[in-house]
Formats: sequence, C-alpha cells, structure tokens
Amino acid sequence: MTMKIQSKLALATAIAALSMQGSFALAQDNYPPYPEQKPLSPQRQGAVWEGHEDTPNGGRPEINTVEEMVEISGYSAPAALEYASLAAIAADGNWGPTMFYQCKHPHGGTALNADYPVPLEVFDNVYSVGNDANNIWAIDTGEGIILIDTLRSAEQAEGFIVGNMMRMGLDPKDIKIIIISHGHFDHTGGLAYMKELTGAAIGMSEADYQMATIAGEIPERAENDFVITDGMEITLGDTTLTALLTPGHTPGTVSLMIPLTWQGEEYMGSYMGGVGAPRDIATVNQWRESIDRMAYVSELMQADVIMSNHTIGDDGLTKIAEMAADPSTNPYIVGHEAVLGYYSAWRNCLSADVAQMIANGAEIPALLPKE
Ligand SMILES: [Zn+2]
Repeated sequence: MTMKIQSKLALATAIAALSMQGSFALAQDNYPPYPEQKPLSPQRQGAVWEGHEDTPNGGRPEINTVEEMVEISGYSAPAALEYASLAAIAADGNWGPTMFYQCKHPHGGTALNADYPVPLEVFDNVYSVGNDANNIWAIDTGEGIILIDTLRSAEQAEGFIVGNMMRMGLDPKDIKIIIISHGHFDHTGGLAYMKELTGAAIGMSEADYQMATIAGEIPERAENDFVITDGMEITLGDTTLTALLTPGHTPGTVSLMIPLTWQGEEYMGSYMGGVGAPRDIATVNQWRESIDRMAYVSELMQADVIMSNHTIGDDGLTKIAEMAADPSTNPYIVGHEAVLGYYSAWRNCLSADVAQMIANGAEIPALLPKE
C-alpha cells in the first residue's frame, strides 16, 4: 500500500513538474521506472532460436517458409500440414515470429522475455508505449488521447504507459478515452489505475465487461463509460475509429479500424483485438469467422497496416527496433496484399488447429450451436 502511494506521489510530482516547466525536458530519473521483468511460467516459456539469439524478440523462433512450417510447427495430421503450408505461403515471410506463435501445435511454450521496446511515434500522433509483450497504442487526436488497453497491473500501467507517454512528450492526463480490446487481465489490470489518473471514458464490449467483472479485474462502470457495439464509430478530435465485435479469443473481443497518416500520406490500420487461439473446436471456428470478417472489412477499407495488442501479433518488437534505428522507413506499412495475406495465414493456422484436433480425437461439437 505504502509503495503504491509513494509511486503515485512520484508520478503526481513528475506531472506537476511538467506543467511548471511548460516543456517536457524532464530528467530521465523523473519518469516512473520500468517495472522489473518477471520470469515466464514454464508452460509459456519457449526455447531460444539457435543461432538467432539476439533478435528484438529475445531470440524467439520464426516461421518464414513452408519448409520451416513443416519442420517446426508441430502439426502431424496431413490436413493440418496442408493448411499450415498455405499459412506460410500467405504470410510470405512477413510475420515470422507471429507464425511461430499462431501456427504451432500444441500451443504454448513460445514466449520469451525480450528487451523492452523504446517508445516510438509510429504514425503521426500515434504512439507505441507498451512493453515487450503488449503493444499499447496511444492516439493523440488533437482534442485528447485515445488509449488502447492498460497492461496487467497499476505498476505496469504507470511504468510503461505513463512513463513512455511522458518520454514522448505526452501528458497522460490528456487521455479522454480508454478502449479495452478484450477482458483478459493483461489488458485490464492497469485499468483502475488509469481511470483514477485520467477520468477517461472506458469503452468495452458488454460481453467482456461481464467476463472481466466476474473475474474482478475492472472498476465499476462510471457514468462516462460506454459499451462498444459492433460497427460503432468512436470519434475524438479529428480521429474516428470503427469498432468491430470479433468474438473467439474472448466472447466480446473488440477489433478496430484505425485511420493513420505518416509523412503526409494516409493509411488504414487493421487492429485485431486478440491474438491467442482458443483450444476447443467450436470456439476456434468462431475465432476463424472473426478473422475472416476482419479480412473482409480490411478489404473494403483497403487496410495497409496491421496493428495488434501483442507484439507477437504484429511482429511489433522487430518493427519498432527497425523504425527506431531508421526513422525514414515505416515497417508497419506493409501494403494491402500483405494485410490480406496476414489474415489468410491466420485463418489457415486456425484451420490447421481444427484438422489436428480432429486427428488427435478431440470431441466433435454439435453441427448447430445450441441456443
Ligand atoms: Zn487475451
């Protein structure tokens, strides 16, 4: 308790110092400190890719080709290998670490701690302020900031989100809207803290609000909070996000279409609000339908950028490191075909999962869902 109060005081002092100075030239040690990295649980801990220890992903293996897919994905059923090979072709070497995470059987055992990414303005007024596991996006609309997700604890929210926003010259108190992509604790754990700090309106789907409330992970709904519905447009300042309900990772996963600009050009970001695959056939199928829907909407809106809430979802650590080293290129801009390839790869990975589960003798769900 004492620690929490102290760190809040430190933050309040730092923010007060910001406004008094009228500039953001703070000494490095005035930022909230980065939390220490915790060891991963044995189920999540993966092995380092031999000969590639020093990647921004901490040496996580990658699947870039059909050969690598067949060799290391772990599928054995012929139909599963067929789908997995299609996934590798569709990804076309663009999403190596993501493919290893999404197209691996059995799932799990892929995570590795990596160096924290630097905070970065990835698009005009769109900032990456997360940690090695979670991308946190802060969109400065000119009339306040939209924040997407809050990490897993107050400590993480303060250390990464608040600290990194300050490093980028942003005032965390300008956050007016907090969108929660889904109700798992690594996205909602810092929500109570961020709400208290900013008073921002929290937007969540009803299904995930209920799920997270049962788990006891989120604050009670305040008057300015709102329910995100399918197709809802969320506008702040000059920015309008389109929200889509894409169930499967959780019952109410929220995905977003995010208009972007970079160096004067307009782009469209396609943001899938969940990453990990479900473990039963019926829910995998639901998730696959949501992936297909995102592919469809990304087609209609000509998306040319993939964004994710996990660095493993968009190969974020590699892209941030590349862009930090050479700000004249933006590796997040992959083009429209690559965006469709991304979703095609993902749906084929899920099809491979289903084929492998059936080959492994998993229980077959009823053909029609019971209402
Ligand atoms: Zn999750």
